[in-house]
This record gives sequence, structure tokens and C-alpha cells, in this order.
Amino acid sequence: MKHLVIISGKGGTGKTTLTASFCALARQTVCVDCDVDAADMHLLLHPQIRTSADFYGGKYAVIARQACTQCGKCRELCRFDAVTPGFTADIFSCEGCGLCAAKCPAKAITMRDRLSGKWFISDTAFGPLVHAELGIGEENSGKLVSKIKEAAFDLARERRSKLLIADGPPGTGCPVMASLSGADLAVIVTEPTLPAMHDMKRAAQTAAHFNIRSAVIINKWDINHENAEAIEAYCRDNKIPVAGRISFSQAAGKAISAGIPLVQYGDKQLSDEITAVWLKIQELINAA
Ligand code: SF4
Ligand code: SF4
Repeated sequence: MKHLVIISGKGGTGKTTLTASFCALARQTVCVDCDVDAADMHLLLHPQIRTSADFYGGKYAVIARQACTQCGKCRELCRFDAVTPGFTADIFSCEGCGLCAAKCPAKAITMRDRLSGKWFISDTAFGPLVHAELGIGEENSGKLVSKIKEAAFDLARERRSKLLIADGPPGTGCPVMASLSGADLAVIVTEPTLPAMHDMKRAAQTAAHFNIRSAVIINKWDINHENAEAIEAYCRDNKIPVAGRISFSQAAGKAISAGIPLVQYGDKQLSDEITAVWLKIQELINAA
């Protein structure tokens, strides 16, 4: 089984709309939405939830009133000011480090698992989708990404899928590293703007750091021809294949509002360009 991850560095380059189109073109391939902070593949793929599970991503401190002698040690030690003057631990401020529980002389503090979100296996018209929802105010440390990737791999093996497609998070932090883990090819969606080009380079360096081959898609290439050429020059110099250019089109926004993968929206030129890019990606991943 090959594992393809679509990343972008910068958000808003069209990564998710293209990933949803690739899921539609791949047909019955397992897809996983690793962009758990801003999960929106479901808006385009309309999943019907088949199974769901809670995700516990950390710990929080609970102080037992009857055992607490109000010595103040926990308040003094907590670097996150999570212990109130009345000696209760505020669940939203507690980072779950466990220091207070380890040092409490009265052994009045216990650490409990923190419910951080939920994850789902769903059916879509294009095949199964594994996706997740972080709880309000919960932080994405990469653990939830690892969890849903593991579930997606299990499902893909069960279905004897030849390909797993992951929509990765933006940026280059822990969630991106978790989404890149084990990938055969990282496809970086960029656009010809200076911030996107800067972040594309960082994303390419992150993939290279993990010895993962990357390829680049230049989305909305025609909004700045000069920058599009600069991206191609960078790719040439760094031996990164360009999977293709996709033109700017008003249809992209309309397809998102209509909740339809771009490739199915009915803009022939755009559909042809996305299909050509997809064929190139398949060629690259089969060679990976
Ligand atoms: S360290 Fe323990 S005993 Fe002291 S105030 Fe905190 S919870 Fe109470
Ligand atoms: S677990 Fe850490 S962050 Fe939470 S209350 Fe205790 S010391 Fe503060």
C-alpha cells in the first residue's frame, strides 16, 4: 500500500479542495483528514458516520477536597497558574504535567484522562473517510493525527487498498510530522505568493528531513507568472518534481460553497487540469 500526504505549509492554498478531488478521482480509496484543527474534508465529502470513538489526549489534575490540607505547595509549583486560591485545579488551565500530583504532601491530587475529541470512520460516495473533531479549546499535539492515521491504515489493510490519501495539516509542527510519518510521497500544494512560497520551502525541507520524497502543485499559478516560474526554478534546483499547474478559477469558491469536490463541479478546464495532476501524482507515487 502506498501512502500519499497532501500538505501546504501555508493554509488557504487550496490543499483540502484538491485532496477531496483526488479522493473523488481515486475512487474507493481510504482517505484520512489529518487537518484536525480545521477539519473540513467532511464539508466536501459528506460522510455518513459508521463508527465513532472518544479520544483521550492528555491528563488533568483533580484535587480531593477532603484530603487537601491547603498547604499551598501545588499553587506554588504550578507554572500554569491552574490551581485556584480555593485549591481546585482549573481543567482549562491545567497542562497535565503532573508536578502537583507528584509533590503534594497529602497525596490529594490525582491525574485523570482528558477527553480531547472524537474520531470517526465514515462512508462517503468516494470511499471511506477517517476524520476527527477536537474538543473546544483542545490543542492538537499530533497524537490525534497519529490515532486516526493508525485507524486509516488498519482500514486500508482490511480493504486491501493500494493507496491511502491523507489531507495533512498546514504548518511544519508536530501534527504535520505525525501526518508525514510513513508517507511514500508528500505533495505540497502552493500558490505563487511570497508567504506560500516561503512555507512551501519549509514544508519541502520538513519532508526531506524525514527522507520523504516530495512533489509540488502550483495552484492558481496564473495569478503571478513570475512567481510561478520562481517556484519551478526552486523545484528544479532541489530535484522536486512539479506535478502540475492549476489555473485560478472562480469555480473553486463556488464548488466549496456548494460542498462539491472541485473536479466534479463542472468546470471542464479545471477538471482536466486536476485530473492531469492526479495522473502525474499516481505516476510519482508508483515510482516511490
Ligand atoms: S499540595 Fe496537596 S495538600 Fe497542598 S494545597 Fe495542594 S492539594 Fe492541598
Ligand atoms: S498537573 Fe501541572 S499544570 Fe496541572 S495543576 Fe498540576 S502542576 Fe498545574
